[in-house]
Amino acid sequence: MSGESVLAIAMTEPDAGSDLAGMRASAVEKDDHWVLNGSKTFISNGINADIVIVAAKTDPDNNPHHMTLFIVERGMPGFERGRNLKKMGMKAQDTAELFFNDVKVPKANVLGEPGAGVIYLMKGLAEARLLGAVGYLASARVSFDLTLAM
Ligand SMILES: Cc1cc2nc3c(=O)[nH]c(=O)nc-3n(C[C@H](O)[C@H](O)[C@H](O)COP(=O)(O)OP(=O)(O)OC[C@H]3O[C@@H](n4cnc5c(N)ncnc54)[C@H](O)[C@@H]3O)c2cc1C
Repeated sequence: MSGESVLAIAMTEPDAGSDLAGMRASAVEKDDHWVLNGSKTFISNGINADIVIVAAKTDPDNNPHHMTLFIVERGMPGFERGRNLKKMGMKAQDTAELFFNDVKVPKANVLGEPGAGVIYLMKGLAEARLLGAVGYLASARVSFDLTLAM
């Protein structure tokens, strides 16, 4: 990994957005690695990413909040990219679908403690969503004012 690697963070799935507990991606521990399966959507930088931090359930039968963050690297067998989704704005940044089919993720690529992923995510998500909301509302307000003045 170089110092200029492009990073993506993959939480969202077709049926799991705000409610991360609904995610279906999962990983099973095996020998010296984890086997990761699932799909993600709406991932910023998903097409260009060299490194993707993927959230997946690691005890789905007993605890829907038991999630682990995995560092998946470009070229790992079973890691595929899907469509670059069309958006109205933010054209400079790709937003993509990602697929993980039996990806062997070395144990060294687990970010933090196994099972603590949801705690790490919740620490940053509230702030990120608040900052986003401020920007989106400001853009909407400016667009409205400019349109009204035409
Ligand atoms: C441009 C773009 C970039 C993105 N980048 C990333 C990324 O890099 N990584 C990533 O993982 N995800 C990314 N996302 C996905 C984003 O995090 C999700 O869109 C977001 O979590 C909302 O999920 P959803 O779209 O499924 O909406 P939903 O969860 O279906 O929500 C739809 C609406 O219902 C509301 N709602 C949901 N639950 C409740 C509730 N319990 N009570 C009241 N209202 C509720 C929501 O506030 C929202 O208004 C990106 C999305 C976009 C558009």
